[in-house]
Amino acid sequence: SFTVMAITVQPEGEEEAVTIFQEQKPNSELSCRPLCLMFVDESDHEMLTATLGPVVAERKAMKESRLILSIAGLLRPFRFFFRGTGYDEKMVREMEGLEASGSTYVCTLCDSTRAEASENMVLHSITRSHDENLDRYEIWRTNPYSESAEELRDRVKGVSAKPFMETQPTLDALHCDIGNATEFYKIFQDEIGEVYQKNNPTREERRQWRSTLDKQLRKKLKLKPVMRMNGNYARRLMTKEAVDVVCELVPT
Ligand SMILES: [Zn+2]
Repeated sequence: SFTVMAITVQPEGEEEAVTIFQEQKPNSELSCRPLCLMFVDESDHEMLTATLGPVVAERKAMKESRLILSIAGLLRPFRFFFRGTGYDEKMVREMEGLEASGSTYVCTLCDSTRAEASENMVLHSITRSHDENLDRYEIWRTNPYSESAEELRDRVKGVSAKPFMETQPTLDALHCDIGNATEFYKIFQDEIGEVYQKNNPTREERRQWRSTLDKQLRKKLKLKPVMRMNGNYARRLMTKEAVDVVCELVPT
């Protein structure tokens, strides 16, 4: 990531430069953002390809060569693996040449469509890969079976641009947050009800724990219960502040 610290202008013939911008909070996540994320938010696929092209080339070069270091008199070879976890969904879509998130193809990990996903929210396996996305783009570009636009789109499962940067299939950051918070929301309820002391708590008991938790979160954090976990709720629940108010309810 990088931050623009200051922008100065020095007109021709002038003695002194004029500062027209100075970053007041260089540590803030508002100004110091990961490079890729910033470009994704502001740019189209072509622009991204051009700006990140050198990064891709560098990664490829590092990947295929070996670094040999002498450690304690022994020559030891190293290889590079580039990994990222919790990428931004929009970024993955851009880098892997997928249609935007409004697409019929809702997932960056598998070929699920909106209709399929609404019927099956549970079974999920990672089937998309960078290489396959590349192959699909070739099919999209050349249309070797002379199909209609609709058939072609169905064949390539929502790939519509050339994937230019390999991303490891992984949950995006938003869904990581939602997944974590969903889990902790359950754990908090169990702790409030001291579930470890009971075998088989009743539905009614569980309902009560949940409502106790909801009430406390609403009162202390102004956090209203939600039907389905969302990003904003998840991020609020996963704070020190939230943990403190939950702990007030946990018998010690
Ligand atoms: Zn999926």
